[in-house]
Amino acid sequence: MIHPKQIRTRFAPSPTGMMHIGNLRTALYEFLVARSENGKFILRIEDTDRGRLVEGSVDVIFRTLKDVGLSHDEGPDIGGGFGPYIQSMRKDIYAPYAHQLVKEGKAYYCFCTRERLDSLRNASSDPDISNAGYDRHCRNLTSSDIQTRIDSCEPFVIRQKMPLSGHTTFTDAVFGEITVDNNELEDQILLKSDGFPTYNFANVIDDHLMDITHVVRGSEYLSSTPKYNLLYEAFGWEIPEYVHLPLIMGRNEDGSVSKLSKRHGATGFDDLVRDGYLKEAIINYIALLGWCPADNTEIMSVRDMISKFRISGISKSPAVFDYDKLRWFNSEYIKALPHEDFCEMIRNYLESVNTSGALNTSMIAELIQTRISQLTEVPEMISFFRDLPEYSTDLFEHKKMKTTQQLSLLHLQEILPSLESLNDWSLTSIHDFLISYALKKEIKNGQIMWPIRTALSGQPSSPGGAVELMHILGKSESVRRIEKAIILLDNTITE
Ligand code: GLU
Repeated sequence: MIHPKQIRTRFAPSPTGMMHIGNLRTALYEFLVARSENGKFILRIEDTDRGRLVEGSVDVIFRTLKDVGLSHDEGPDIGGGFGPYIQSMRKDIYAPYAHQLVKEGKAYYCFCTRERLDSLRNASSDPDISNAGYDRHCRNLTSSDIQTRIDSCEPFVIRQKMPLSGHTTFTDAVFGEITVDNNELEDQILLKSDGFPTYNFANVIDDHLMDITHVVRGSEYLSSTPKYNLLYEAFGWEIPEYVHLPLIMGRNEDGSVSKLSKRHGATGFDDLVRDGYLKEAIINYIALLGWCPADNTEIMSVRDMISKFRISGISKSPAVFDYDKLRWFNSEYIKALPHEDFCEMIRNYLESVNTSGALNTSMIAELIQTRISQLTEVPEMISFFRDLPEYSTDLFEHKKMKTTQQLSLLHLQEILPSLESLNDWSLTSIHDFLISYALKKEIKNGQIMWPIRTALSGQPSSPGGAVELMHILGKSESVRRIEKAIILLDNTITE
């Protein structure tokens, strides 16, 4: 369907802490809905719930969007024709709308105290009390009663007057037609006693005033949408298109799934970055949590996503956040990095193993770039270059390589003197030297390569084999480690 107006979407986060994966996915889809149709993407900060604000989180929002390449066209930092874009700065805008609804009989003042509401909430397990929560106690107060209470400065909120019968139906672009009975809808608060609007009220007013055409948000808002639509209708405003996104689940140990939470793994963007995932890989993986392009492409830049995005590709089935799949995406992104960029990314790690300054760190980086899935694997993978770990001589036993501890000892002892006199320490020279040794002794290459690789790394596996490790470590360190292996093997065998 061609939308007659220019598409305008908004990402409307509440600054309450980290950027959760679900929020970032919402931002991305809002961005894609707009950008794929040459529309506008707006950033609006929803900070009316003053108790939940966390200092610094607005900066986290700006930084994250920038890091993953979701640039907004209007927002608190860059302005636009529909500002201000921070709800607390719009505080005076909302009250007149709430009062207008009161005047028109579509909303009412409520003076119920917190204690009364709390006791209602406690009793709400009673099946006879519908509209879980509020019992519409103040819905029919007389105007003189209301006036007296306002005059005596009794605090009040303004509540929406829900129809007591009938039903409300709307069509969501992902979930299809949804119908709810109006008597299930609570007379929700629109304006709080501190004069701030609730989220439920402010989002409708702002989406209307900011000319938002498509509201994209998590499916947890599906059940509230009829209330919003009743507000749009009460004001006589056009209802935006709704695009609700599927839940994001995590896999439990027993194989079942439940709403993604910390016990499944990192759930915040910064936490994932800290766990060694590249920003490009994270946003790519997140894009596929509920959306799939028609051609099933998996690896996509945000630019690719824009050209492939269609709302019809969004699924309503819950998406399972699969950390293994994210690791796969990450390894693909790491492999595709230009060598210099990868070196720069892991520079601190490389420097920490190169205490002598003599190691060929560029080659270390080259060896590990194709072998890791997370940057956090790097320190452990390369630490042996700095310190040879304690290891068991069992590592010298290798069936496929046809080596044993005895054979390893024999060949390490035999090769050492000529290795010490090898002057050309280039990769080719080391390689040819080892191969010619195997040839001369009529053994398999692995029968000399494996003992040397093991002696140099002290690990069951290492990035690079004997030739690369010898080259990187240099002659004297290689000789030192082989001598150590000879002593260890000798001691074990003669024990
Ligand atoms: N401020 C709401 C939140 O952070 C926004 C929901 C919406 O997109 O309307 O969940």
